Amino acid sequence: MPPLTKTQASEIEEYDYFVIGGGSGGLASARRASSYGAKVGLAEATYRLGGTCVNVGCVPKKIMWYTADIADNLRKSAAYGFGKEGEGNKIAEDFNWTELKHKRDAYIKRLNGIYESNLVKDKVDYHSGYASFIDKNTLEIQGLDGETYQVKSKKITVAVGGRPTIPSDETIPGASYGIDSDGFFDIEEQPKRVAVVGAGYIAVELAGVFNTLGTETHIVIRHDEVLRTFDPMLSEVLMPYMEKTGMNIHRSSNVKKVEKTSSGSLLLHIDSLEKPLEVDVLLWAIGRHSNTEKLGLEKVGVETVGKGDIKTDDYQNTNIEDIYAVGDVGGKALLTPVAIAAGRRLSNRLFGPEQYKNDKLSYENIPSVVFSHPTIGSVGLSEPEAVEKFGKDNLRIYKTSFKAMSFAMLDENHKQPTAYKLICTGPEEKVVGLHIIGEGSDEILQGFGVAIKMGATKDDFDSCVAIHPTSSEELVTLR
Ligand code: FAD
Ligand code: NDP
Repeated sequence: MPPLTKTQASEIEEYDYFVIGGGSGGLASARRASSYGAKVGLAEATYRLGGTCVNVGCVPKKIMWYTADIADNLRKSAAYGFGKEGEGNKIAEDFNWTELKHKRDAYIKRLNGIYESNLVKDKVDYHSGYASFIDKNTLEIQGLDGETYQVKSKKITVAVGGRPTIPSDETIPGASYGIDSDGFFDIEEQPKRVAVVGAGYIAVELAGVFNTLGTETHIVIRHDEVLRTFDPMLSEVLMPYMEKTGMNIHRSSNVKKVEKTSSGSLLLHIDSLEKPLEVDVLLWAIGRHSNTEKLGLEKVGVETVGKGDIKTDDYQNTNIEDIYAVGDVGGKALLTPVAIAAGRRLSNRLFGPEQYKNDKLSYENIPSVVFSHPTIGSVGLSEPEAVEKFGKDNLRIYKTSFKAMSFAMLDENHKQPTAYKLICTGPEEKVVGLHIIGEGSDEILQGFGVAIKMGATKDDFDSCVAIHPTSSEELVTLR
């Protein structure tokens, strides 16, 4: 870019705080800083505010999970006296994916609008364009309307999030015939046959949606379990139920080549299968990487690690003074509430009153949920992590498994499993891990997350009177 003339330079907008990225972390941080009177700007590189969570993540995903859950309930309906056996199944099969997709898109569009009006209301200048560093305090914005200009800011936060990782065609010939989780939300018609590659949150959640809605679903995993970073009890309970409900799990399997047939279907050559697997959609869900390649970080010396994640300390400071990073771009706990909390606390610290001068997010005991069927909730250490930290002899593990009462009218084959585990340590039996799988685990976890954050012991759990009849009462009556 040529140097600016004096007049151009004097027209450059100068901010106290500028945020790159209009997703969960960026919006939260910008709005909080502005609430303290700072002059704040924010750039978003797409036409849609809200980032991954709102557009291609948590929100549309949860709509799809609700949809699948309704299909599940329809299948149960005859057992509770609604219609005749099989009628609910028929309604579930009549599901109109296209119509729901369009309604979901319209809902997201409304949310995009709300995010934009919130920025106006909170007096944050919204720059619609791609921002990159020119120097430590100067950014170039390539506006979506074609205009390129500069802004200056005393402090800058990078909150550019990440995007799905897909193998290259050099590594796996034909890999690019597949889609990723962004592509999942563009699917217009329900595919008949799907293969999902990956074993983490996204693979389990999206394979679960397809399977529950009646698509022939294959999940291809490199090892023998899904969700290997979680407590092992969760996959031990989830995987047999996935299979019982018709999902095909290909263990110790790797896709080696993908071919497209003349009819448009895909042939997956998988090392554990003798014949290629034919599907209509291949979805890669093998992790994500940060959006940092074209940000010009090297011009200012901001350090990145791993797959381009920005390295920060506990206070979201990068190695360069007055440049910060929040959210997925840090590569740690890729969750919306984490990005929001980190962004708000950073602004509290930078622009808030004295009481916040050391504000920071604690990354310990962050609760998280996998929206599988049934759902999973997890907070604190898994059993292997607890053994490593405290030693096996210093742990007491409480476990239970049962069938929730809501399935009482169903035959054994249609009952979802429930299993709970508490991991306690020390003579006071402090709860250092809680892992639950079963209907309602997504909603149950939050309150227990508070208790664990407060340092609850097994006695504290037991001294809370049970709520009956619920599934979660089992967590306060464990023996
Ligand atoms: P993002 O939300 O990704 O926002 C970054 C923004 O920066 C984007 O809008 C991007 O366009 C913009 N940007 C990038 N580069 C530039 C640039 N140079 N200039 C200007 N703008 C730029 N989390 C949960 O807590 N619960 C869930 O249920 C959940 N489900 C998920 C489901 C899926 C399928 C996926 C993919 C993610 C899910 N997540 C979930 C994770 C969650 O979406 C992310 O953790 C969260 O969105 C991270 O927020 P962020 O602000 O760091 O980044
Ligand atoms: P994850 O990191 O959760 O999981 C990806 C998994 O795919 C890995 O754990 C690995 O499992 C497997 N994998 C990695 N590379 C390959 C490969 N080359 N071939 C085959 N398998 C591979 O990433 P996701 O993409 O699922 O999700 C990204 C993040 O988004 C999550 O970590 C989470 O933080 C967030 N998210 C949160 C949700 C929620 O809160 N409910 C929902 C969705 C996403 P293994 O080593 O066992 O093979």
